[in-house]
Amino acid sequence: MPDRTESESRKLLGRLSAVMAATSVGQTRLDRIVRLIADSMGCEVCSIYLFRDAETLELCATVGLQPEAVHQTRMRLGEGLVGRTARDRTVINTANAPAERGFRYMPETGEERFSSFCGVPIQRLGEALGVLVVQSRSARIYTPDEVYALEVVAMVLAEMTELGAFNGAEGGLSPRHQRPITFRGMSGQEGAVAGRVFLHEPRVVVTNPISDDPDRESARLAAAIEALRAQVDELLAGTAPVDGEEVAVLEAYRMFANSRSWLRRMEDDIRSGLTAEAAVEKEQSHARARMGQASDAYLRERLHDLDDLSNRLLRILTGQGSDTGVAMPSDPVLVARNIGPGELLEYGKGTLKGIVLEEGSVGSHAAIVARAWAIPLVIRAEGVLTEALNGDLMLVDGEQGVAHLRPDDTVRKAFEDKIAMLARAQERYAGLRDLPAQALCGTVISLHMNAGLMADLPSLPSSGAEGVGLFRTELQFLVRNQMPKRAELSALYARVVDAAKGKRVAFRTLDIGSDKVLSYMKPQDEPNPAMGWRAIRLGLDKPGVLRMQIQALIRAASGRHLTVMFPFIANPGEFRLARAEFNKAMERERILGHPLPSEVEVGAMLETPSLAFASYAFFREVDFLSVGGNDLKQFFFAADRENEKVRRRYDMLESSFLELLSGIVGRCASAGTPLSFCGEDAGRPVEAVALAAMGFRTLSMRPASIGPVKSLIRRVNLQEARKVIDDARIRGDESVRPALTDWLARQP
Ligand code: PEP
Ligand code: MG
Repeated sequence: MPDRTESESRKLLGRLSAVMAATSVGQTRLDRIVRLIADSMGCEVCSIYLFRDAETLELCATVGLQPEAVHQTRMRLGEGLVGRTARDRTVINTANAPAERGFRYMPETGEERFSSFCGVPIQRLGEALGVLVVQSRSARIYTPDEVYALEVVAMVLAEMTELGAFNGAEGGLSPRHQRPITFRGMSGQEGAVAGRVFLHEPRVVVTNPISDDPDRESARLAAAIEALRAQVDELLAGTAPVDGEEVAVLEAYRMFANSRSWLRRMEDDIRSGLTAEAAVEKEQSHARARMGQASDAYLRERLHDLDDLSNRLLRILTGQGSDTGVAMPSDPVLVARNIGPGELLEYGKGTLKGIVLEEGSVGSHAAIVARAWAIPLVIRAEGVLTEALNGDLMLVDGEQGVAHLRPDDTVRKAFEDKIAMLARAQERYAGLRDLPAQALCGTVISLHMNAGLMADLPSLPSSGAEGVGLFRTELQFLVRNQMPKRAELSALYARVVDAAKGKRVAFRTLDIGSDKVLSYMKPQDEPNPAMGWRAIRLGLDKPGVLRMQIQALIRAASGRHLTVMFPFIANPGEFRLARAEFNKAMERERILGHPLPSEVEVGAMLETPSLAFASYAFFREVDFLSVGGNDLKQFFFAADRENEKVRRRYDMLESSFLELLSGIVGRCASAGTPLSFCGEDAGRPVEAVALAAMGFRTLSMRPASIGPVKSLIRRVNLQEARKVIDDARIRGDESVRPALTDWLARQP
């Protein structure tokens, strides 16, 4: 870039900085800025358009157009040259605007007198906030240097808008992060709650976009780049040997960190008057805008790399780590792109009021934790990460899968009514707590709860559960940052058994792998972790941890009843090996003179279709079976439980799946093997009625589901329900859901 423009744009930014520093309200600031730009650029018109809502731009300040048009002239996204600039997030630079495709004549502005037009998007990190426009009477194309200077100014305006610098009383300006927005995602967990946004990974905030000391900024950038390169090298050094393609991808990442053109562009930005962090952000914004348009997958990936590197660089420059020291509000609604179960557990039960995820899936273990904590969860709330700011009011409607950010009074009022209604329903369920889940036909279903943390145990008496049908022991491993010791585990399991006060607790041995990754174990590089080295497979191949856990369980039971089940048993051989480990541990404890459990039950989780077809000998051999419907369903339908695109295509109530369940029920009945169902479906009232009607007598679910499930079971005759299901299956209905829900709706 020539020196002349360098100093021109620096001068312009210097003057802009003075305007921003002067204590004036939003509208006055905007008015001064457009005047200043028009002056510096020698053009007749300068205008700023900002978004009023996601689809509408409003003229918010102008010099050169009719002043009466300010806050009157509006256009839709994509409409006219201004709308097109905002929609495409690219510069439009033309000498003959009226002849341009899509030009819209707006008589109230008087702009027909101006021939040339240059519109530059005001955007922050790829998020469009508005458009900065200059126009001249003479037919001219603005030079690349002029356009560049406008882009730099637009970037600073974006930062200022973000920081609320234009919030003014008289302008009616409603900058992006103040508007109410509703996100329609999907329900991950029911419930309704009002709280304040707490970002899991806070955004880096650049508070100082302008600098008058380019040398200092350039040195800061150089130092930060050095630190970034060291980080990336470390990242690569820590990566296990990988195949050729992955090396190529990682090398591309490293290449970006060393990319001269990227550095040169940021250097240019600094020379034009931006601080180092503003320069990084300006280039990041460009990359994001291109990312949105790139159709080539490889290019998109590379732009993603650049985005990631820019974030790292910004954190280095601003010193804002992932922990920016933002205090957690008293009623936090966690907002994140996605979150693993370990990270979620670190927040601790009772801390979060709700969770809203940009991605996420219903079948993930993080969602299971949210369900165990009974906090509403909305997943796939697209755009929430760019819109939500720490401290914003958020209403989470887990029923509808909707989140209202900065809601207006009407929404707020309706939401309060909803919360009150749900509270009344809870009261009704509490009234059923001590009554059995006895259907009208007299059949009693035993309802148990799923747990995984000590903190879940208080729910045992309050929910009315008869025991813990699934204790997910891996959650204890996930909340730690090192492998727990045997003594620690045994003390913990003993406390669980104590807290259960004689009620049965089915401890499931460690089920790690898949999405449950222990930070202190070497990560596995597996193409299909859900079908990979997980659960009992890992336990049998590396028996040290399994043995330690079994010992801890035996010691914890110490003279009391002990129930243990092994996860993800795919064939009888695996169960036999695991049971042999259990027997060996019992023998060892006996020799050591430790008290043994009074009674033991050793069962298996049926989570792969293969086990449903195991020999009768196996069904007789196990002390009990528990169907892990989450995994069983994913493997039966070959549909990843964490992939929302495929997960929802299939339903537990499809006739084919019920056929599978009916086979399992039949085999257990002839072998006299107790059977339960502990997947998430057991906690959904309609599904629970179907399971009970199919012959399951024990269901295990999250504590909050016990009330609603019990309430429905008590209202129906399971024999009639079975007839409805069988009729639908005989008729050839693909799913029994329509027939069953129709019948349920007709019950008194
Ligand atoms: C299941 O798969 O249904 C189950 C209960 O286990 P998890 O959800 O922990 O995999
Ligand atoms: Mg499972």
